[in-house]
Amino acid sequence: MKAKFCVKCGTEENLINEFCRGCFSCENTLLKHFKDLKIVICHNCKNYLYRNSWQEKLSDDLTTCIKEVTKELFSKKIVINSDVDLNNLEIEVEVPKKLKVSRGNFVNLNLGVDVAGEIEKVKMEEHYEVPLKIQFSMCNNCKRSGGKYFEAKLQIRPKDEKILEYVKEYCDGRKNLFISKIEEIKQGYDLYMNSQKETRSLGNLLRKRFNGEVKESKKLFGRKDGRDVYRATVLFRLEE
Ligand SMILES: [Zn+2]
Ligand SMILES: [Zn+2]
Repeated sequence: MKAKFCVKCGTEENLINEFCRGCFSCENTLLKHFKDLKIVICHNCKNYLYRNSWQEKLSDDLTTCIKEVTKELFSKKIVINSDVDLNNLEIEVEVPKKLKVSRGNFVNLNLGVDVAGEIEKVKMEEHYEVPLKIQFSMCNNCKRSGGKYFEAKLQIRPKDEKILEYVKEYCDGRKNLFISKIEEIKQGYDLYMNSQKETRSLGNLLRKRFNGEVKESKKLFGRKDGRDVYRATVLFRLEE
């Protein structure tokens, strides 16, 4: 027998099974449950952790990386109610322009989740705010190489502390540039950097700022996914 009124509030209109429309959407949700999300990203090479194993980075850009990893991992975590037809799932993360990226550092962000779907042919839309914790750590590869993972080497010639300090400060303010290691040698400093593109622009910046010249060279390092992988050396020489 069809119900004549809502068992929860008594309304007689817009009945769906034993509930009115309003009570139906209170009693039924599209998502069954989900957990707060925590993602771990290697600050050095941007690989990320999934089920205790490190996965290949999803982008060279840290902001894109965080967004993609979040989407990837969150969509694996949600559980949809059994009688739901899910039509749409959108995940939004606001990543601040400035992020303090260093080993062991935590960043707390918020995840906006919009879902749309149907239960018993009733269209529903829901919005959730989910806390997201990002931890920066070092992946096994980077640990194994003692943090010596690098894509480019920046050589500062001759030894000049003012320039070294400038480079360190510059890197502190950049999300996608990181110094893996600094070597002091007789002729100057060798800095191992994680990004070729960013190291190249840093080289140009040094040339404009400190009056010197920049030379770049590339060396074949190996092959990865069928592509040749090069390491770049950017040499900055201060004019005497
Ligand atoms: Zn009702
Ligand atoms: Zn790494």
